[in-house]
Amino acid sequence: MSPSYSSLNLVLLGPPGSGKSTQASRLASSFHLPHISTRAMLRDEVDRGTSVGVDARKVMERGELVPDRVLAGLMLQRLDRDDCARGCILDGYPRTVEQAILLDGILAELGRSIERVVLIDLPLEVGVRRLIDAGDVVENNGAIVVEDVSVTGRHDYEDVVRERCRVWRENAPALLDFYRHRGLLLEIAGDRPIDEVGETVRQAVGAPVGA
Ligand code: AMP
Repeated sequence: MSPSYSSLNLVLLGPPGSGKSTQASRLASSFHLPHISTRAMLRDEVDRGTSVGVDARKVMERGELVPDRVLAGLMLQRLDRDDCARGCILDGYPRTVEQAILLDGILAELGRSIERVVLIDLPLEVGVRRLIDAGDVVENNGAIVVEDVSVTGRHDYEDVVRERCRVWRENAPALLDFYRHRGLLLEIAGDRPIDEVGETVRQAVGAPVGA
């Protein structure tokens, strides 16, 4: 039988192209929990032209990581909102062990903790191929200049995607171990149709009470 939770703070992890945002959004609607995407939060800051947004834009355009203190501030504000009382689906955070430790601190401050972590597992080359096939990546960077990279759409260019893959490769092993050692990590094969992956994730996680 699937486990049941009185609250469910769930982290979704996966390499670029794993479909983790799609799965996060599906889980959020089926469990009636907020979907918290750092990409969407940062994009909102960029669109509103806030000082966080102006700085974040440059970093995002390169596929690098926005500084921890910036994300930690945004996460504290967001997780403290009433709609997170029963938990949330975190998409894009944490990405490093340092962020995972910060997240534990933020949740502890709010009297909560991570109940589950799901890895949508996929070889990097398969994820990148998916991004290319979906038209999210231009295969030959050629004459494209960085200023034209849109961080508000899903258009990442080859060098940006390469950097995002590098960041994943560099940080994922330690982050996964961090959660594996605490018995929180569920690993789901992601190289399957999106509906199948979604159903496996939902079954493996189990619904929170009231969902
Ligand atoms: P994503 O589409 O989820 O890979 O996010 C797009 C970009 O937003 C990343 O390449 C980073 O520049 C930035 N970003 C999103 N989440 C984080 C995070 N947890 N820490 C640092 N930067 C992030």
